[in-house]
Amino acid sequence: MEFVMKCLGINEAGNLTIGGCDVKELAKQYKTPLYIMDESDVRKNCRTYVDAIDKYYDGNGLILYASKALSCKYMYKIAMEEGMGVDTVSGGEIYTALAAGFPAEKIYFHGNNKTYDEIEYAVKSNIGCFVVDNEDELDAIDEIAGKYKKTVKIMLRITPGVDAHTHDFIRTGQIDSKFGAALETGAADKLTEYALAKKNVELKGLHCHIGSQIFELAPFCETAEIMMNYIAKLDRKYGVVIEELNLGGGFGIKYTEKDTPIDYDKFIEAVSAVIKKSAADLGVKCPFILMEPGRSIVAPSGITVYTVGTVKKIPNVRTYVCVDGGMGDNPRYILYNSEYDAVLVEKPDAERFEKVTVAGKCCESGDIVIKDIFMPEVKKGDLIAVLATGAYNYSMASNYNRIPRPPVIMAKDGKSKIAVKRETYEDIIANDMI
Ligand SMILES: *Cc1c(COP(=O)(O)O)cnc(C)c1O
Repeated sequence: MEFVMKCLGINEAGNLTIGGCDVKELAKQYKTPLYIMDESDVRKNCRTYVDAIDKYYDGNGLILYASKALSCKYMYKIAMEEGMGVDTVSGGEIYTALAAGFPAEKIYFHGNNKTYDEIEYAVKSNIGCFVVDNEDELDAIDEIAGKYKKTVKIMLRITPGVDAHTHDFIRTGQIDSKFGAALETGAADKLTEYALAKKNVELKGLHCHIGSQIFELAPFCETAEIMMNYIAKLDRKYGVVIEELNLGGGFGIKYTEKDTPIDYDKFIEAVSAVIKKSAADLGVKCPFILMEPGRSIVAPSGITVYTVGTVKKIPNVRTYVCVDGGMGDNPRYILYNSEYDAVLVEKPDAERFEKVTVAGKCCESGDIVIKDIFMPEVKKGDLIAVLATGAYNYSMASNYNRIPRPPVIMAKDGKSKIAVKRETYEDIIANDMI
């Protein structure tokens, strides 16, 4: 039996396993709904990227874990132990990383609208680098850096004109983006000039990010070439040497059989070759490179386990399998109509013959986990595992309907531990002051 995730198995009892643990036993121990991550698999994903930088780019780079995919102290610990930096997008993510003991100098701070307080917090914490989005942000960073008598390292977020959010990629367009400064409009030049005029910032690099869930090498190669040309242009035009090039994240993973991911190291192999060739052709130095995988580090290593509460058959219309979670722990269907695969924990390889819709328990008709999936017969009390939920599930979870968020369990070598505990009703009212 082949699952969409490589780290799952079936044990002698016929139950689904992850990280050497019986998922039914974990559900009994920790209750449902429940997020479970295969820790070794997460670490393997980290190493694939880290090793690829060594293999294809002489170690002249750093992999940043895009922590918005799954942010909790233990994930920052894993990233640290695997020799990565992290990419953060808020004061809260920076706080979590620092609380986990993450080295500040390896924290990169993203975002199109960092608040004054967040910038001040990041400057005071001596984080490694700001990925600057716009002139207003530059003003604030320069002012705050001056106030603390510091020089802050920055990169500029450039929109390279390659949009790869879908299977195809588009070469122009993407000027309509809330992120970064476009090359085509001259906004990138303006932002660069603005940065060069600031006293308390040091322009170290350029950043770009072309989309997410991308299955092709070509858009990354195209982008690398565009960015290298721009680095050469900045050298000619302003005499500025760009030392770092950050090519973002967005590497695709397998959610359902339709998805066709490629090995992660292939991305680094491909862009390394482009960058080396461009550098030689243009007569500029090979920059230190950064890549920011998020989804591909954690999504394929995580599942969510639910208990079925009721099965509602509406003849000739639809069969709803209602589970004890939903949009609160996985808002991706309601946000993007995302597709997932799921199996029964006690019969993961049973034949699938019935089309059902897995729905949540929230007061919202759009509260669906999976629309139209073929499943074996599902009954009240069955455990369902939704697959490849390791990214953008816990990190996007909410307390809608005042439902406590599920715990995040790390499974490894047949043992399990709690990375994040289940919220309680007391947690739910903790901030209600009157
Ligand atoms: C979201 C994001 C990433 C990570 O994207 P994935 O698709 O999760 O790999 C990396 N960099 C930036 C700037 C992002 O916004």
